[in-house]
Amino acid sequence: MEHHPYLNPFNERMKQTLAGKPLAELIEHLKPLPAFRARQLLHHICRGTRTFAEMTDFSLSLREDMERRFTLYSSKVVQRLTDKDGSIKLQIALNDNMIEAVILRDRIERKTACLSTQAGCPIGCVFCKTGKLGFSRNLASTEIVEQFLHLQRAAGSRIDNIVVMGMGEPLLNPVELRKALIFLTDEETLNFSKRSITISTCGIAEGIRGLAENAPNIRLALSLTTADQDLRKRLMPATVANPLPAVKEALLYYQQRQKRRVTLEIVLLGGVNNRQEDADTVAVFARGLDAVVNLIPWNPVSDALFEGAPLRQPTRAETDGFAENLRKRGLNVTVRLKRGRGVAGACGQLGYVEN
Ligand code: SF4
Repeated sequence: MEHHPYLNPFNERMKQTLAGKPLAELIEHLKPLPAFRARQLLHHICRGTRTFAEMTDFSLSLREDMERRFTLYSSKVVQRLTDKDGSIKLQIALNDNMIEAVILRDRIERKTACLSTQAGCPIGCVFCKTGKLGFSRNLASTEIVEQFLHLQRAAGSRIDNIVVMGMGEPLLNPVELRKALIFLTDEETLNFSKRSITISTCGIAEGIRGLAENAPNIRLALSLTTADQDLRKRLMPATVANPLPAVKEALLYYQQRQKRRVTLEIVLLGGVNNRQEDADTVAVFARGLDAVVNLIPWNPVSDALFEGAPLRQPTRAETDGFAENLRKRGLNVTVRLKRGRGVAGACGQLGYVEN
């Protein structure tokens, strides 16, 4: 029988969770079991095994011991909502908070997992449901990875892309984000293609520089929304700490290091950021960058006010008109389809308060 030293009824320690932890940590947790046991456990986790009982390549007594000592997941899916377009939103309970993660399906059936990095968000964008929640805390890397594992199971088949643009500002949680990216992309763990991962930031200049230096091949999107500094401050209050010239400098540095195109995302708010002068300022901001502009007609969030007035979705004509204005200024523009709206899982709609 295999030696398993941690059967200890007097052990008062909290159970360790295992999903999302790298091999080196699993080896430590399982000591003095041989390293190959940790490797087996890691493969189970990455394949989506949900219980120790299913790990039949472990002896029964070892499985029972592991059950006593560890829990596999620190989080639990408490609700799954499916949109008619095939998008799926998961509401996930952490030990102290609720978060959401989404699978968006596009027209050609590719699946994109949208992950959260914080419970709530400190940026406070007026058009975003998460922004209205305030900030609770940064997520641990394991909590970020677990979202992917939950989504992978919900999807039932391969996930094609990952976007880190759910709840929270990823570059305000750089250490845990980096650990999660390593787990997602390492050959020994999930082996997800770096080129299929996009980090979306509201523009944390120092974090962009960090990505430039430490995250080769990961894609970058800037949630720009407006390149009018004064309007941006009013729409995305906490971005004031990172003025647009500093953000642009960081993007230029990123492109110099990474040689990758960046995406400038503009959440289009009817009558707010779709004027001619908004197209002008975006064009000036984009000058010198290898960038594509992604226009996202605002997804409704209840009670969203801008300086006392309700926000509204742009009309189709306004969206097309603004796209055309940007194109006339030489920009490459795409308009994002409204995926996931039926489950309030579209961009800016994440937040567990209401559905
Ligand atoms: S849009 Fe992004 S940065 Fe702004 S409040 Fe929402 S989650 Fe935070």
